[in-house]
Amino acid sequence: MEYLRSINPYNQQLLEKYKRFSDPEIGTVLKKTEDTFLEWKSESVENRVVLLKNLGKTLLRNKEKYSVLMAKEMGKPLTQAVAEVEKCAWVCDFYAKNAVQFLSDDLIETEAGESFISYDPIGCVLAIMPWNFPFWQVIRCAAPTLTAGNTLILKHASNVSGCAIALQELFISAGYPKGCFQVILADHKQLEAVMESDIVQGVSLTGSEKAGRSIASLAGKNLKRSVMELGGNNACIVWEDADLDKYLDTMVNARMLNNGQSCIAAKRFIVVEEIYGEFLSRFRDIVRALKIGDPLNVSTDIGVLAREDLAHSLSDQVEKSIKMGAVVDYGNSRSGAYYEPTIITEVRPGMPAFDEELFGPVAAIIKAKDRTDALALATKSKFGLGTMLFTEDLESARKVVGDIPDGAFFINEMVKSDPRLPFGGTKASGYGRELSLEGMLEFVNKKTVYIA
Ligand code: NAP
Repeated sequence: MEYLRSINPYNQQLLEKYKRFSDPEIGTVLKKTEDTFLEWKSESVENRVVLLKNLGKTLLRNKEKYSVLMAKEMGKPLTQAVAEVEKCAWVCDFYAKNAVQFLSDDLIETEAGESFISYDPIGCVLAIMPWNFPFWQVIRCAAPTLTAGNTLILKHASNVSGCAIALQELFISAGYPKGCFQVILADHKQLEAVMESDIVQGVSLTGSEKAGRSIASLAGKNLKRSVMELGGNNACIVWEDADLDKYLDTMVNARMLNNGQSCIAAKRFIVVEEIYGEFLSRFRDIVRALKIGDPLNVSTDIGVLAREDLAHSLSDQVEKSIKMGAVVDYGNSRSGAYYEPTIITEVRPGMPAFDEELFGPVAAIIKAKDRTDALALATKSKFGLGTMLFTEDLESARKVVGDIPDGAFFINEMVKSDPRLPFGGTKASGYGRELSLEGMLEFVNKKTVYIA
């Protein structure tokens, strides 16, 4: 494909087409990143922080422009796009406040005159990113990685090239040297050669399990550092004593945010029998009240999926589950890239709605006999991004922390990312961490320095 096309999924209008980079053009980008790294790594962390603060301010200054761009390119409701840009500014602010401390030498007493760990940048990091949070995924990776002294090349999802270009311009407007953050408009098949280049020292992929397996193999073959932020099939466990008055809105939001296209969304609602009937009827009432419409309209809760083919794949998964015994409780109509908020019940292990990631506004509801059964069903997944549990019995909830094999366990809250806390998965959800101190130290050389 010579061009990458951005198509508004709401009305199928072609927004723009972008010429794909040739291999020599990618070579030029690699050379530029190599040259820039030599200067950038010698900058003090304090100077890099000045640019990071500019980045945060520039994001906020252009909030409206970026939000409209996201809503048009991938169908996200505008108010959620605004919140995404604000969250990007938050991550800049967090690392601006903490980078100097995170990256300062750690003295360790030994018999040496002096011994310490020095946190050095490693070089260029390739960031391969998805379309679902087109600004957030990139900034949460770039802010700590660049502030640690690395350079970055972004290969964004091919349906959000407008966001990719806007991000590159953002870094330039904030004052970053041109080679610090560069975009390649490429097909993912062109990445094999990039991964083989000695200039690239690490790769951070946020995307599907399939892409993760492919890039992790290339990282292994070429011995490159890698962080894999992959898919999820988070359980939302509801024990019989859950406070539905207080938390049902949160639970619905945990499924429907971003038109249901979030890795950490609640995808399987595992509800203890005792409260099942009440839960289902009240959950349905809230889903029914969601406002569906044009993503650019500020009152819209549910826009459209990012591409029409995604609605087809989701429909296939739902239909297969229905053939296996699942029942449509609410919704399930679709047209073009629009998929109606949907509830399916009688979902059981073995069905796509239980075993696979449903990347859209479809809530799978599963009845559990009791608390123990609910926990067993929740952990029956090849993914391990996060689990949430709603209960008023915090003492018992704390006791099950060790039984959750995921990267996150949220009690009485939806799983969400926060710059202050590490974020990442286990099992088929990937490995490595983003955000917090952990995220900043993924792409540094923790060098032992020993002075006798
Ligand atoms: P995707 O198809 O895997 O694409 C993600 C990125 O990887 C895109 O830039 C894509 O490029 C590239 N890619 C796809 N196949 C590849 C391959 N075989 N080798 C190398 N690169 C490849 O995922 P998506 O549909 O954009 O995003 C949805 C998925 O991302 C879901 O599974 C979701 O759960 C996951 N996700 C995870 C997190 C997290 O933090 N754990 C966050 C958000 C999303 P092209 O566009 O050119 O194919």
